[in-house]
This record gives sequence, structure tokens and C-alpha cells, in this order.
Amino acid sequence: MATVREGVMPMPAPDPARQGQVIDCPAGLDGLVLPLRLVHSERRRRKVNLKAARIIVAGGAGVGSKENFQLIWDLASCLGAAVGGSRAAVDLGYVDHDHQVGQTGTTVRPALYIACGISGAVQHRAGMSESARILAINTDREAPIFSVAHYGIVGDLKEVIPRLIKVIRTGAGAKT
Ligand SMILES: Cc1cc2nc3c(=O)[nH]c(=O)nc-3n(C[C@H](O)[C@H](O)[C@H](O)COP(=O)(O)OP(=O)(O)OC[C@H]3O[C@@H](n4cnc5c(N)ncnc54)[C@H](O)[C@@H]3O)c2cc1C
Repeated sequence: MATVREGVMPMPAPDPARQGQVIDCPAGLDGLVLPLRLVHSERRRRKVNLKAARIIVAGGAGVGSKENFQLIWDLASCLGAAVGGSRAAVDLGYVDHDHQVGQTGTTVRPALYIACGISGAVQHRAGMSESARILAINTDREAPIFSVAHYGIVGDLKEVIPRLIKVIRTGAGAKT
């Protein structure tokens, strides 16, 4: 059996010329041989649909605190974007797990991905490196996120994001 995670590769157009053959394989398992037993299952709605977002603003451990993470929500709000986060940001309680991007989160390919205070560990890049355009904001010019970014800003996100918001909202301040 082979499985591929949703969103990991572009969906090809269906080719009706290709036909599969269904082969029945009786497994012959019964409740006595199965090592696992389903005790309870529960479905809940995700709080965010990252896959549908054209723009994602994502924050990482570099955001520094849950209060600072409001900057990520503010930038996302003025761009009409969804909010994402690294696993470190989730583990630190800055943002809910539904927002996690990466190997153990959601794989995304938005038109624009803005990574703020995210180092760009391989497990994070696995979930966002296929984005059409990537902007990274990081104080460390050697951060691996810059290796996949199309645009980079080396700086403190606490200074950079308010300036970006000002420019987007008013069209002013680009030179300040
Ligand atoms: C099995 C496994 C699965 C994993 N799955 C995932 C996954 O799905 N998604 C995921 O993201 N990670 C995942 N990880 C964790 C991953 O390895 C990294 O630990 C994590 O991505 C790091 O998150 P981060 O970049 O936010 O934090 P850090 O690596 O701590 O990086 C913080 C960055 O912020 C920068 N910074 C600090 N202060 C500022 C500032 N004021 N302004 C701007 N920049 C600043 C720093 O220079 C640094 O680059 C997984 C790990 C394992 C082992």
C-alpha cells in the first residue's frame, strides 16, 4: 500500500485513458488477531483552512511571546491572509496546532508565504518550500529559511512587521 499526504505534490489532471484493476485480497483478519482495538474516535473541525489560503503569514519561536504573536495576526489581517506557525511556536503556546505548517503539520503551497522568526528547519521547509513566493524575516542572515526564500529581510520582526503594516495600510513609510 502506498499513501501520499494531501498537498505534497501538485494534483495532475485526471487521465481517463489510465485504467486500474481492482484485485480482491481477502485479508482474513478477525478481532482476535488484530493487535489494535478502536476504543473511541472523534472528529472536530479545523480552526483554519491553510490549504485554501492564497497568502499565509507564519510565525516561529523568534516571535518571542504570545503577545508579540498579535503582530502575525495583524499582518495577516491587513493582507487577508491565514495565520501559520512553526512547531516551536505551537509548542510554546503562541498559536494552536491547527496552524502548524510542516512535516507534522499542514503542507501548503500558497501564492505568498511570509515566514517571520522561523529558522527554516527541514521539517518546516517540507511543508512550505513549494510556495510560489516566500518572504522571510529573520535577524540571522545565515538562517536556513533564506535558502528557500525569494525575498529576505534581515531584521527584528518587532520592527519590520509594524513598518510593513504601515506601508500596506497607508502606502506611506516605505522609506522611514
Ligand atoms: C519528527 C519531527 C517533526 C517536526 N515537524 C515539524 C513541523 O511540522 N513544523 C515545524 O515547523 N517544525 C517541525 N519540527 C521541529 C523543527 O525541527 C524545528 O525545531 C522548528 O521548526 C523550529 O521552529 P522555529 O523556526 O520557529 O524556531 P527556531 O529554530 O528556534 O528559530 C527561531 C528563529 O527566529 C529568529 N529570530 C529570533 N528573534 C527574532 C526576531 N526578533 N526577529 C526575527 N527573527 C528572529 C532566529 O534567528 C531563528 O532563526 C519537527 C521536528 C521533528 C524532530
